[in-house]
Amino acid sequence: MSHGVFGPVTNHRTCPGCQSSFTKDVKNNTWDSMGVASPECYEVFLKIISYNDVRFSFLPLKKLIISAYAVQHLSCLEVQIALGIDRDARASSVQDIPLHLLRLFLTVEKGFSTEKVEKEFDDVRQKILEKRIIFLEPKRTKGLIELRATDVWDSINYAKLTQEEYVDLMRRFAETTWDAWFEYHDFVRNIYKTHR
Ligand SMILES: [Zn+2]
Repeated sequence: MSHGVFGPVTNHRTCPGCQSSFTKDVKNNTWDSMGVASPECYEVFLKIISYNDVRFSFLPLKKLIISAYAVQHLSCLEVQIALGIDRDARASSVQDIPLHLLRLFLTVEKGFSTEKVEKEFDDVRQKILEKRIIFLEPKRTKGLIELRATDVWDSINYAKLTQEEYVDLMRRFAETTWDAWFEYHDFVRNIYKTHR
């Protein structure tokens, strides 16, 4: 068996972000633009976003879904280099993760309304940009990710969800992601306390 940069050459591929295992879909070989999600996992994510847009676009959940997915897909230097993603793009993908964690924190831990989450998020983000703060690369969590994009899509796909069930599912996606990154809770609380 040969070994490529993306692991052993088999019919299965593990997403470098959330570690979900997929049967390789040879028709789709497009990684997400940052090289942090495998083609198969990224396709699942796009299905979730598309479902949200078509059925529940009036609910303010899209940014939360994107943040939970982004946190589960940290940059993986080896894959990004292999895909030819340049240094600036890699740096910006690292820089975004604490901000996505901040949105999860404001939603899950602070329990703010969506409007307040986005207002606080924009204020903190603006100050971080003004002060040109550079974050170090967050590491993969040792916590258990209970709900990944594939689990979310399975729940959507196999059940005709009511609005209430859908909101509950997406909130659990955000909550379990925030819980899994427990090592970064103090780091994110401190970003909020310092820059709000
Ligand atoms: Zn993934």
